[in-house]
Amino acid sequence: MRELVVHRAKWVFPVKGHPVENGGVVVSGKRILDAGRYDELSYVPGAPVVDHGEVVLIPGVVNAHTHLELSVFRELGRNRHEGGFLSWVRDLLEARSVVGEDAVFEGYDEALKELRDFGTAVVADIGNDPQNYSRLKSFSGGGLFFLEVLGFSVENINETVAGSDRAKSFMEECEDAGSLSTSFQLAAHAVYSTSPALIWQVKKLNKRYRKAMSIHVAEHPGELEFLMTGEGECRELLEERGQWNPSWKAPRCSPVEYLDSLGVLDKSTICVHLVFVEDRDLSLLAGRKVPVVLCPRSNVRLSGVLPPVKKIINGNLTWGVGTDSLASNTDLNLFGEMAVLANDLNLDPEVVVRAATMGGAEVLGISGYFGSLDEGKTADIIKIPVTAGTGKEIFHEIIEKGEMGEIQWLTQSVL
Ligand SMILES: [Zn+2]
Repeated sequence: MRELVVHRAKWVFPVKGHPVENGGVVVSGKRILDAGRYDELSYVPGAPVVDHGEVVLIPGVVNAHTHLELSVFRELGRNRHEGGFLSWVRDLLEARSVVGEDAVFEGYDEALKELRDFGTAVVADIGNDPQNYSRLKSFSGGGLFFLEVLGFSVENINETVAGSDRAKSFMEECEDAGSLSTSFQLAAHAVYSTSPALIWQVKKLNKRYRKAMSIHVAEHPGELEFLMTGEGECRELLEERGQWNPSWKAPRCSPVEYLDSLGVLDKSTICVHLVFVEDRDLSLLAGRKVPVVLCPRSNVRLSGVLPPVKKIINGNLTWGVGTDSLASNTDLNLFGEMAVLANDLNLDPEVVVRAATMGGAEVLGISGYFGSLDEGKTADIIKIPVTAGTGKEIFHEIIEKGEMGEIQWLTQSVL
């Protein structure tokens, strides 16, 4: 048996249940054996105890949506993009056309380090280059790589990178992985950039390997206009890029209703953004048990609008939080998203911290390994200094200190 260590702290937030004062977590190797009140823990007498003092122990956070291959474009994410979403896409495509592969890889590796420094236990990375699945394997926490499929005039997935032998072998490699470290699956980009046939095939292929798919949904007004009229900026962009399909007819419905008509909405289809949605869209998603990811800071940068989070919570949807990429955000610190949700939207900070841990793990289908301090889960635990006197008050401090980067990982070292 690996060495057993008892971590003691003023507060422990196991996520399931409320914060525990005078708490502890028993860890063996990379696994949690027990968590709760220190004097009620079960552990071998004589095991070393590390007292961390005036801190709270919480699980590392789950960044449920980002694009690490865009980290090299962090200049684009520094400020609000006044021209709107599609003008940002054009700027990004232009920047991408001149940047070298080495710079992209360098940005990717730096981003992995940054994620860890900000207390990230799991990252869901959406990318266009399958090579980055191998890079993600060097991340110290859990990593889900979603290879993104694009092409509005493409009907067959075998004509995309997702149909390559390499992509298929990656899917096979991580099928039925006993415990998650890094996994490979497919994402569709969005309803205005990926043909209905491709979206359906992405879903089918993921299903074959029992993986979740991801897709951006209702992120900007142009997406709604395109589905209602077949016109607007999305159409212009497709024509510019030689991707317009003249036989496609606008379905005259919302993005959520459109995806439902394609038969792809279920508990393994992760819908990201949902900024421009109606009540009936949220009811439809709840009925299909569709998990969602919100990226508030990116939405403010690109559209100046926050998603309807209170409605999403009241609608009983399972939700997690993502930073989106450094091309539309200042950093990959998930606590920055939490601060916007708690401060700008006045959400209960405890609900926000749950979403950024257990919520993300549930969305990604990995809550058996991450998201809370429970027996058997991965011991990726962070500590944050707190001075608050009550369990309710510590959540503001968790978010505030986390946003300032005042987190430390628990290590197995007793010294
Ligand atoms: Zn995204």
